[in-house]
Amino acid sequence: MSGMRTDTDVVITGAGPTGLMLACELRLAGVDVVVVDRLAGRTGESRAGGMHARTLEVLDQRGVLDRFLAAGVPRSIGHFSGLWLDFGRFDTRYTRSLMLLQSRIERLLEEWAGELGVRVRRSSEVTALRQDGDGVEVALGGPGAVPSALRARYLVGCDGGRSTVRRLAGIGFPGTEATLTALLGDVELADPPAEPVFMRRRAGGDFSVLGFEPGWYRVITTEHGRVAPAGSPATLEELRESLLRIAGTDFGMHSPRWVSRFGDAARQAERYREGRVLLAGDAAHIHFPSGGQGLNLGVQDAVNLGWKLASVVHGRAPDTLLDSYHAERYPVAERVLHNTRAQSALSRPGPQTDALRDVLRSLIGYDDVNRHLGGMITALDVGYDLGGGHPLTGLRVPDADLETADGPARVFGLLHAARPVLLDLRGGGETAAAAAGWADRVDVVEATSVAGHWPVWPDGGTPAPDALLIRPDGHVAWAASPGAGGLDTGALRTALTTWCGPATAKE
Ligand SMILES: Cc1cc2nc3c(=O)[nH]c(=O)nc-3n(C[C@H](O)[C@H](O)[C@H](O)COP(=O)(O)OP(=O)(O)OC[C@H]3O[C@@H](n4cnc5c(N)ncnc54)[C@H](O)[C@@H]3O)c2cc1C
Repeated sequence: MSGMRTDTDVVITGAGPTGLMLACELRLAGVDVVVVDRLAGRTGESRAGGMHARTLEVLDQRGVLDRFLAAGVPRSIGHFSGLWLDFGRFDTRYTRSLMLLQSRIERLLEEWAGELGVRVRRSSEVTALRQDGDGVEVALGGPGAVPSALRARYLVGCDGGRSTVRRLAGIGFPGTEATLTALLGDVELADPPAEPVFMRRRAGGDFSVLGFEPGWYRVITTEHGRVAPAGSPATLEELRESLLRIAGTDFGMHSPRWVSRFGDAARQAERYREGRVLLAGDAAHIHFPSGGQGLNLGVQDAVNLGWKLASVVHGRAPDTLLDSYHAERYPVAERVLHNTRAQSALSRPGPQTDALRDVLRSLIGYDDVNRHLGGMITALDVGYDLGGGHPLTGLRVPDADLETADGPARVFGLLHAARPVLLDLRGGGETAAAAAGWADRVDVVEATSVAGHWPVWPDGGTPAPDALLIRPDGHVAWAASPGAGGLDTGALRTALTTWCGPATAKE
């Protein structure tokens, strides 16, 4: 099979938030990509209703955040199983989450993808796959479609919780079964509650009434011990009965746009890579949506994977770089599954849980606890074990203000092109000289830091470094403390080789 023609570099299965974000990341890096989706068009349905700080930051890193901010409403909606968290003092420019329906998030991502030249092939369902030494072939079919095939160097399954790609690649999806049923309805209310975000706990379960847009509301109920049979569609009457059981009123609910049912099954793909097939987003992990983490997790998977896959496709890095995707992202989702299981348990009815919630509520009053839980929900605390002795290594880079020869700049502004950035804050040319062998793929930027200290999650700080290597996903791969004599160019070159591949140009 070696040397067979390919139709594109990467096929992405699924034009949800994860697949679209990944397509943008790959296109920014100059990779040819085709996205296939079994649906003929967008459904307009929205499971997620917003994005938290780290997702806003990664969109900011790409210079496209403004269009999302313009479409949504910033709100302090962070919570842990309905217990409010305060993100107000976190070191980020986005201390409020953005309420924005998933359908709008997807539309904005698709618009951006279109600007970058991404092709989305609809009514194209992946039904079979076969991989060999140098490519993957997928069979496309589905109702009403003319069967066809696509061959690519790599395939990424972003095809949701029931991922066909995962099944066809033989990747297990172990986890825990659902213990509850939650119902969701996007409805109009004759008699809505006064607060726009109304979340209550009652003896029979929890309910929320969220005012998303003028005129209509999202109503969600959660009842433990009632696990609805799979397959039967949810109805407005079922939601009304559930709300009456829990809240004693249906708020005059009528005119549903969408009613759906979901549970708290929590499962994770055993491995995120099988040869030339990778998984991202819900295809790799499902869990109860408590805290609103799933879409965020998928978008951030895509931002971790995109530049690595691009490097491998371009032949700049060995394909073992792709293993770091599983190594870094599996533990992040594992922790989300864990925290959503805890949140499910915390929503069980009964006086014991009430007491436990009271204890946790008072603990959240301590800044450290609020920061610990808020760091998980916003994903601001995600750090990768990248070795190295600097306190920033592995963490997301702070969006520090800089002065450059061209005027003021921000660190995130340097990442718009999704290329690695070697930020030289000490000048003198030594940093650029050490990285000369990577000049074709690393942007070297000379600047000075406006602040003398940079924040380090959770609440520490460090003197602004002398130089740092920032990966395209915004994580610090290497950093040098100031005033420590000459640069450790050996450590810099090791980091450049690890994350950007071997040097090419003559040094
Ligand atoms: C009630 C509810 C509320 C939620 N609220 C939030 C929230 O507030 N915040 C948050 O971050 N997350 C939330 N989530 C989770 C979020 O909706 C998901 O994590 C997110 O949709 C995952 O995106 P994805 O792109 O990975 O998968 P999906 O959105 O599932 O997209 C998968 C795509 O793949 C396509 N596809 C499937 N199979 C094939 C195939 N064989 N061939 C071709 N195409 C295929 C599908 O048509 C679909 O377009 C919520 C979930 C639920 C259920």
